[in-house]
Amino acid sequence: AELYRVREWGAGFFGVSENGDLQVTATPDDFAGAVSIPDIIAGIQARGLDLPVLLRIENLLDTQISLLNDSFIQAMKSLDYGGAYLGAYPIKVNQQQQVVEAVTRHGRKYHHGLEAGSKAELIAAMGMHSDPGAVLVCNGYKDEEFVDLALHAVQLGFKCVLVIEMPGELPLIIERSRALGVEPILGVRAKLASQATGQWAESGGDRSIFGLNAAQIIEVIDRLKEAGMLGCLQLLHYHLGSQIPNIREIRSGVAEASRIYAGLAAEGAGMRYLDLGGGLAVDYDGTRTSLSSSRNYSVYEYCADVIEGVMTVLDEQGVPHPTIITESGRALVAYYSMLLFNVLDAARFEPEPLPDSLPEDTNVHIRHMHQTMLALTPDNVQESFNDALYYRDEVRQAFNQGTISFRERALGENVFWQTVRNIAILARDLPALPLELEGIARTLSDIYYCNFSVFQSLPDAWAIDQLFPVMPVHRLDEEPTREGSLADITCDCDGKIDRFIEGPGVNRTMRLHALRSSEEYCLGAFLVGAYQETLGDLHNLFGDTNVVTIRILEDGKYEFVGELEGDTVEDVLSYVEYDTKALLTRFRETAEQSVRKGLITPAQRREILQAYKNGLRGYTYLER
Ligand code: PLP
Repeated sequence: AELYRVREWGAGFFGVSENGDLQVTATPDDFAGAVSIPDIIAGIQARGLDLPVLLRIENLLDTQISLLNDSFIQAMKSLDYGGAYLGAYPIKVNQQQQVVEAVTRHGRKYHHGLEAGSKAELIAAMGMHSDPGAVLVCNGYKDEEFVDLALHAVQLGFKCVLVIEMPGELPLIIERSRALGVEPILGVRAKLASQATGQWAESGGDRSIFGLNAAQIIEVIDRLKEAGMLGCLQLLHYHLGSQIPNIREIRSGVAEASRIYAGLAAEGAGMRYLDLGGGLAVDYDGTRTSLSSSRNYSVYEYCADVIEGVMTVLDEQGVPHPTIITESGRALVAYYSMLLFNVLDAARFEPEPLPDSLPEDTNVHIRHMHQTMLALTPDNVQESFNDALYYRDEVRQAFNQGTISFRERALGENVFWQTVRNIAILARDLPALPLELEGIARTLSDIYYCNFSVFQSLPDAWAIDQLFPVMPVHRLDEEPTREGSLADITCDCDGKIDRFIEGPGVNRTMRLHALRSSEEYCLGAFLVGAYQETLGDLHNLFGDTNVVTIRILEDGKYEFVGELEGDTVEDVLSYVEYDTKALLTRFRETAEQSVRKGLITPAQRREILQAYKNGLRGYTYLER
């Protein structure tokens, strides 16, 4: 367990039981009522659902929502802050209905609202939102229909804020407000000069594509003043980027935004809300550092620093404390979901045992390579490696020129791999490894073939090299004896995971248990609740996985509260515009022609058609 650093990245939710199962608890750090993940998998399979499965644990989402809200409440209390906190969950982070429903259900006691960045998201949000005490923040570019919908939400009594992202939106909003006779609640999105580092920082800073610069904001104020609507401008929004690992950058953003807020208040706007956008990071690698996959602060520290930053500026300017809004998404939903998948097979890069002595007529290069292997010592590691590479190339050339047979080439490769293996074993104990030998252990590591698609289920691991914790969910009381990377079942050489959080830095391989023929070996990829589900695509036509939701009960039991069957082959074919009925009709005809040609009997045709139909209805992943 220590090997996989569960206690470091798991935020107290994950631990290991005495029998080596990974377990999950609803109450961080309290494992008395924890449940075993392999038990949950058995329950899922008993219900007839196959792996891979995306498992959601509702309690983890609830805990994160409470943690954020309670931390703000506590920080405000201890700093004597005059305003309140309202969360707005950004639908884009995970738009699935179950997820938005769960956020609004548990969030209700905190008036946790929603953020929409497009018309479709606004329509989803308006259907899910029923709490007049919560905010509904509308970001994104807007057309007349978008603006009208938001104004209707205001008519219904909701705190629905239209955030101006582009100068051109204001005339439209003024015109539609007048036409519908609704007093809008307006916000402006500011481009801050403060910039964050990290993977997603481009959305902040002067060059960001979103938001208004200082001159444009002044123009908005003047226009609103002219229209007699300056009181409608109540919110200042900014977003430095998602996953901001360094608290100093969060603090400088808050300081700058608070100054702008004070400036807007001084201009006579009806300021009430300061919206910091997202950015609250998740410690994916468990290092608690300012590396891009981590964060160097706790949730409470984030809240306290934000409040302190706002107070420092506004108290000095004599401006009343606003309601603080954050649009935290990642930090709320990342822990909630994990992808569970089975290993199908493993490739080992191990030489076959060599004969005691090489046959008399063995090719000279193979002989030399063999001698290199026998003469290997800690002092000649680098030289031996160079020699082995040289002789391997000579052997390949000899084969291409027809001077040695295919069988001899295989012997040559075997001697080569045995030499490299011996070098790797010696290299482990060398005080300083020659640069060229650094990747040698990786060259010899296994590849575990796993039943999932990186493109569908972990798109950020492929697209932007994001790290996710990955580990076995059982056999954790057993020393893992293998070292390997993971390949998915797409036929794409990018369909792999070869960046792991195991060591202090990023590792290219991870420790794994040797496969047993009688037993399934299951791994989990964790913290995948944010952004992965809808960014995933249909590469090789692997569709949505099965999704199962559970709730952990107080007595350590749990119940299945939701189950969504993943895409069938028929589903994914229809997404790419196939008419599956027409496909079947055509296939029937093809099969009939084969009967006519005497290739199959009518009874065989029936069997073949049945197999085709079963295939259409089946799961896109490998089934048991
Ligand atoms: N708000 C806005 C405007 C965003 O663009 C984003 C995502 O990038 C978020 C909120 C959510 O950010 P996070 O997931 O870091 O909380």
